[in-house]
Amino acid sequence: MKKSTETQNEHDLKQIAKQLKGLSRKIPIYLYSEAGVNDVFSEEARSALSVLSSVTEMITVHEHGLNDPSAEKWNVVHSPTLLFHPERYRIKWIGAPLGEEWRIIIETLVLLGNGNGLYDREAARILDRIQTPRNLKVFVSGSCLYCPQQALNALKAAIHKPELISLSIIDTKANQKLAARYKAHSVPRTYVDDLLIAKGAQPEELFLLSVEKKSQQTSSLPEKGESEVDTDLVIVGAGPAGLSAGIYAARSGLGTVVLEKGVLGGQVATTPVVENYPGMKQIGGQALVDIMVMHAQEYVRIFQGEEVIEVLPGPPLTVRTDRRSFKANAVLLATGAVNKRLDVPGESRLGGRGVSYCSTCDGFFFRGQKVIMIGGGDSAATEALHLNNIDVDVTVVHRKDSLKAQDVLVQQLHQNNIPILYNTEVMEIRGKHSVEEVLLMNNRTKERTTLDVQGVFLAIGYNPAVELARKAGLTLTDEGYIQQENYRTTVPGIYTAGDVSGGFKQIVIAAGQGAEAASASGIFRDLVNPYWKTERGNHYWHPDAIHIYCRGYEL
Ligand code: NDP
Repeated sequence: MKKSTETQNEHDLKQIAKQLKGLSRKIPIYLYSEAGVNDVFSEEARSALSVLSSVTEMITVHEHGLNDPSAEKWNVVHSPTLLFHPERYRIKWIGAPLGEEWRIIIETLVLLGNGNGLYDREAARILDRIQTPRNLKVFVSGSCLYCPQQALNALKAAIHKPELISLSIIDTKANQKLAARYKAHSVPRTYVDDLLIAKGAQPEELFLLSVEKKSQQTSSLPEKGESEVDTDLVIVGAGPAGLSAGIYAARSGLGTVVLEKGVLGGQVATTPVVENYPGMKQIGGQALVDIMVMHAQEYVRIFQGEEVIEVLPGPPLTVRTDRRSFKANAVLLATGAVNKRLDVPGESRLGGRGVSYCSTCDGFFFRGQKVIMIGGGDSAATEALHLNNIDVDVTVVHRKDSLKAQDVLVQQLHQNNIPILYNTEVMEIRGKHSVEEVLLMNNRTKERTTLDVQGVFLAIGYNPAVELARKAGLTLTDEGYIQQENYRTTVPGIYTAGDVSGGFKQIVIAAGQGAEAASASGIFRDLVNPYWKTERGNHYWHPDAIHIYCRGYEL
């Protein structure tokens, strides 16, 4: 056991050394702490700095007490606090790097040690417009998968404009009172001059626009890059279906792009642990996404943060996004499915204040507290186990008299003594500023009771994301999924795969469908030999198209 831990540590150290290799600038890091205050975190910070300074001589560590005169000079009041090159930048880390936060620390050092980090022209233009001081605060946690992206956005701004932009990255675990004061119940959460500008991670331009305007910007991404792009296939959605379709399409010679308006990996990114993806005995959802994305990027361009507004009929089809238009010979809708809502009083008002749809992102915040997990499927069971595992006192609440989840998961719930309330419905979520209690009803006896809880997690299934499909005139099934046969939708040239097309929702299945939809038994085949010409007698495509589709192939 000890040997394998050492091996893992050695491996981690090698990875860190690799990432920090070649830093060209010295980075002095200051650690401020006060004995008796947050000692555990101070010790974590100390050991993190010792690791970092052991792998590169470009990092130097200076430790002081909070009563040191320099603490007043830099306005340091929390223990522990890290300052990165404070003579030049105003970047504070309040807490110690844990879990996912290591990614932020490494990115910080790479940015500081190698220069400013690249901004594209549009982002640089927005940053240039900011001409008055901004004080940024980004609340993060070690178990939050989206936090590194938002922290990185803020870091780049603070590094590019040190004279105007100061930044505090605040670990909610080490600073619970501060987090409570800012109502940072879910992370990442970003403030500019104490005004909330973002719940969650943002694409770079939206982040900068929000900083500029000091309020959350959710649309109007500026134009950037090419205004019109020609390609063979546009894949909408970068979940397992979209990513694997990208790999297969590109490998079969189709010019392919993948567009993703939100988080890469879709639902998988928020799945705590995946144990049934072949080849991966046990892997975190985000880790699996990282592997898939890295693989897909070997072949296709992934436009993240770009939202498709509509798909117009062809030929060629036009995919209009919030940034540009794509002219494409085929479109694959792999838009996935989004969390279902309970629609009870309190759910919206207390969203992000104790009500959560993502135990991976928010679970840690409820450590030692009492929460309920609503739902009876695999998601509810998996996520309840995850919460229990990180010391959250979780009770499953299900409206039926037995769970729908796989037996193996149900057994694990029992083995871990996780209480399950059957035949129970949540009628209301109550609380003044955050969740305080839920009103429950036994749907057999109609008896109503209240339960004191600080958190309500929901895992009650998904709604397929069919808005685009609807706009494009595609037929939907009775259950609301995109109707398809061999991945073909009812509109020639438009295809679908993955959760949005219904069926058994498993990562391996979505990935398999994406592969098949794109490959020689799907889109590629149809572009070579358009079925709509032969089957429908309808010359939908330009007669020359076959030469385009088959380039590089001898027919
Ligand atoms: P499911 O649709 O399977 O389950 C949803 C659960 O929520 C059901 O128990 C349902 O209750 C309940 N529910 C739905 N609406 C409400 C409501 N309004 N009020 C109260 N309860 C409600 O969704 P999952 O997210 O659990 O799973 C989706 C798919 O992903 C499944 O195919 C699952 O197998 C898969 N999955 C696999 C995992 C794995 O293998 N590791 C992990 C997670 C998901 P009722 O039964 O009464 O309808």
